[in-house]
Amino acid sequence: MPSETIKLTARFKLKETPEGLDGLFSTYREIVNFLITYAFENNVTSFYRLKKETYKGLRKEYPELPSHYLYTACQMATAIFKSFRKRRKKGKAKDRPVFKKEVIMLDDHLFKLDLENKTVKLSTPNRRIQLEFYPAKYHEKFKDWKVGQAWLVKTPKGVFLNVVLSREVEVKEPKAFVGVDLNENNVTLALPNGEFVQIITHEREVRTGYFLKRRKIQQKIRAGKKRKELLEKYGWREKNRLNDLYHKLANKIVELAEKYGGIALEDLTEIRKSIRYSAEMNGRLHRWSFRKLQSIIEYKAKLRGVRVVFVNPAFTSSLCPVCGGKLSPNGRRVLKCPNCGFEADRDVVGSWNIRLRALKMWGVSVPPESPPMKMGGGKVSRNDVYKLYTSYG
Ligand SMILES: [Zn+2]
Repeated sequence: MPSETIKLTARFKLKETPEGLDGLFSTYREIVNFLITYAFENNVTSFYRLKKETYKGLRKEYPELPSHYLYTACQMATAIFKSFRKRRKKGKAKDRPVFKKEVIMLDDHLFKLDLENKTVKLSTPNRRIQLEFYPAKYHEKFKDWKVGQAWLVKTPKGVFLNVVLSREVEVKEPKAFVGVDLNENNVTLALPNGEFVQIITHEREVRTGYFLKRRKIQQKIRAGKKRKELLEKYGWREKNRLNDLYHKLANKIVELAEKYGGIALEDLTEIRKSIRYSAEMNGRLHRWSFRKLQSIIEYKAKLRGVRVVFVNPAFTSSLCPVCGGKLSPNGRRVLKCPNCGFEADRDVVGSWNIRLRALKMWGVSVPPESPPMKMGGGKVSRNDVYKLYTSYG
């Protein structure tokens, strides 16, 4: 059975900032900046070369610092310099890269996470210290996961440890695929048994609500610190609320797909579709939204052994799933095929085509002219297709 790796980042807020941590942040930043300058002046893009050429000197200058801080600083410097070179090629970068963030990269020698006791041990100059973090409910699911890299991040809200956790899962051969069409206000699923499920998300109302709140703040409060803080606060609340919605939605989708073993989503790296979404979503947070929802569906599916495939999104909502002809609008949401007479809601067409594409991709031969038995007659009315209608507030 093929296995796949799931990687997620968990966030741990430290209960207190130990003495000397500020010093560690500034020392680390100093070292990363030294390394970036070295890489810049000598055009070094290889981590190994950078480490080899600078290690001895740095070791001498920072004798108390555990050596792995020098390794991760080299990793960060290499990554920063490489992305700087990329941006410079596009004419977007300034004269030289500088690292200003309060971030320390940690590898497995520098920290040890103890989920049970809600503590983390951190190697610092001179000694190893134990720190407590605030427990969160979602931390519990990571109990038997493998701990990878981490980042210690200082923010105005406190110091956080962001840890990459991974787990191997076995993903079975899918028996069939559920086609999933993600839209701003609904998610439509085409099930292999010929049924369609539409989940109304109310996402547009949530977004509009926050949009109006933000506009009110902008009108009432003059530019300044307070306005910025309020806008940030509501921005976070909106993200949290959407995040919560996406988790519920993803759970439902995976639950419906579990017995078939496969989920098909649109590959949204394709530019055309992103443009369509951006117009539909009025440009607000859309990019974050779709990627986020898709990634949540993907890892939740893998955790239950469900395969996720990504299909080409071109024309999924404008071609007839039965005969492949070009559909024409017939009313506000309904599309009709002039060729074979098939008629259905736009979202039904979208999810249906996504499912068919996944089958083709997987090498299952499905004659496009054989619609699921339940549809009969080629004509599908709204009432026939929405077997389940769930609403999330
Ligand atoms: Zn047709």
